Amino acid sequence: MKLYDSMIDVTMEALSGHRVKKVKYSPGAAWKCLENTEFIMQRDAALELGGAPAPSVNYTCVSTSGKVCEDEILIYGSDIGEIKGGCGFSRIVILETSDLGEDKDTEKAFQAIRNLEFVRYHVFPEGYMVRVSSQSNQEQVRIARDALKKGIDFASVGSAYIKKYREVPCVKNVRVIFVTDSELVRLLVPNADKVDAITRTLTHILDGMPTDCGHCSMKAVCDEVDGMKELHLGKRNN
Ligand code: SF4
Repeated sequence: MKLYDSMIDVTMEALSGHRVKKVKYSPGAAWKCLENTEFIMQRDAALELGGAPAPSVNYTCVSTSGKVCEDEILIYGSDIGEIKGGCGFSRIVILETSDLGEDKDTEKAFQAIRNLEFVRYHVFPEGYMVRVSSQSNQEQVRIARDALKKGIDFASVGSAYIKKYREVPCVKNVRVIFVTDSELVRLLVPNADKVDAITRTLTHILDGMPTDCGHCSMKAVCDEVDGMKELHLGKRNN
C-alpha cells in the first residue's frame, strides 16, 4: 500500500523544522478508555481543542513502505497541561501495516480498511470527549477538569489510540501526531481532503466499480496518486 505515501511525505515535510516532543508508546501509560463516548458538560470542561474559529483537522494514512518504524507519539505545540484557552487541534495517524493484499484479495483488503476506519472513531479516553465531523474532517476535543487534574496528556491519549490500533492484526507500527499550534494546523487542513479522496477512490475500486477512466469521476485522483490506476486497471487483467 503506497497510495498514501506522498501525503505522508507532505505531512512530515510541513511539520519538519518545528519543535516536537516525541514519546515512545508504552501500553502501561495508555489513558483509561471507556466503552462508549462520554458526554462532558461545558461546566465540567477545562479545555476545548479545535473549537471554531480555531482550525481543526483529522486524517489517517496507511503505508507498507517502512515510513513508521516504531510506535510513537509526536506532539507539536503545547501539551494538554500547558494549554490556556482554546487552540487549534489536529490528530493525524500514520499506520505501518502488513500487505493488505488490495491487488489480490479485495474482500480482505476492504475489511482491513474498514477495521482501521472503525478504530479511528472508536477510542474513548475518559474525560476526553471527541467530536468529529467526518464530512469536514474536523475533530474537536473537550477535556474534563477531572481528567486535567489527574494529569491527562497527549502521551497517554496517544498511547490509548496506539493500543487500540495494535489490536488490528495488520497493524505493525503506529505514529499518532497531535498538533495544537494553530498556524501549523492551518497548513495541514488541505491534506485531509486529498487523503479522503484517496480512501474514497480505493474503497470504490475494492467495491468493484467499472474500469472506464473516460467516464470516471475519480479520474483526477487517479491522475495524481501513484499506483491507483495500476491497482484498478491491473485488477481488470487478473
Ligand atoms: S483507474 Fe480509471 S476507472 Fe479506475 S478509478 Fe481510476 S479513473 Fe476511475
